[in-house]
Amino acid sequence: MAELRDKFNRTIDYMRISVTDRCNLRCVYCMPYDGLRLIEHKEILSYEEIVRIVRIASGLGVRKIRITGGEPLARKDITSLTSSIKDIPRIEDLSITTNGILLEKYAEKLIESGVDRVNVSLDSLRTERFKEITRGGDINVVLRGIETARKSGLLPVKINMIPIRGLNGDEIKDFARITLNSDYHVRFIEFMPFGSRGFWSADKYIPRDEIKAIVETLGTLTPVRVRKNGPSKYFRLKDAQGVIGFISAITHHFCEECNRLRLTSNGKLKPCLFSETEIDLKPALRGGAPDNEIERLLRLAIEIKPERHNISDRSDLNIFQAMSQIGG
Ligand code: SAM
Ligand code: SF4
Repeated sequence: MAELRDKFNRTIDYMRISVTDRCNLRCVYCMPYDGLRLIEHKEILSYEEIVRIVRIASGLGVRKIRITGGEPLARKDITSLTSSIKDIPRIEDLSITTNGILLEKYAEKLIESGVDRVNVSLDSLRTERFKEITRGGDINVVLRGIETARKSGLLPVKINMIPIRGLNGDEIKDFARITLNSDYHVRFIEFMPFGSRGFWSADKYIPRDEIKAIVETLGTLTPVRVRKNGPSKYFRLKDAQGVIGFISAITHHFCEECNRLRLTSNGKLKPCLFSETEIDLKPALRGGAPDNEIERLLRLAIEIKPERHNISDRSDLNIFQAMSQIGG
């Protein structure tokens, strides 16, 4: 079977695809209140175009796909995309990252369409605070969505939390405790300098080691191996059913293990989350290019994949696009 390696000998088998830059929430750390300048509809890749890219990428060695956004479940008829992707024989793993607002409605349909797992972003367990962070979201809707996903078999359900000092940093222990009596994977993600212009600042950022030390006040963390570990390192609290992960893009580079490419909703390949260089697939897709031309562009993106990002060395840290535009 084809295997794709970059020049640093990393296997590239994972593609994260943003299917929309639109969202039904406005998280304070991700988007400005009045939203971002949205990409025009005609510029957004159609499902047919996305499926074609995945089919060609799968011929090169891509095996895992994650659908993200904006809010992917808010794009019309999303399960027709997921089922077409799952029909591509070499795609082994299909997952979605969602804010959970539409999960209760979609969980069953997602699983029927071939989705294997979901990651749900949840940044507070307190009703009022959740509403403030998301600028209007109802936490009960998300909690019901998470529970429905678990019951439907979209397993493991991963809950992603971004601890931000002065916003929700005091809830780290509450999130870790979720794992004591349920088999969720709770993952703490370092706050990165993306999104709402000016919102990120060094004093709001809580480094991974500090997050981990707070969790450890609940008890010893024993390392555990979780299949398809990805960039998160997993641990378990004593007698806990679920596991806890720490994703650290800034303090602990995960670049050595990076196996992914990103595709934005308007058809740009990003070799790295932090890349300012993008490869635009749309002119080729819409200009009638044959598959081998798309394949050449995919290979080019892998060829220019940097060995590591350098954001910890940069002083202009509020420079990046919003995650809703890249796909997280
Ligand atoms: N709307 C979906 C959601 O919220 O899960 C999918 C898209 S969202 C952009 C993907 C992920 O990016 C979410 O887990 C979100 O918390 C994360 N994210 C957004 N801005 C971020 C930032 N500045 N630093 C770290 N993660 C961020
Ligand atoms: Fe929307 Fe997800 Fe960004 Fe929140 S983090 S505004 S849910 S895209």
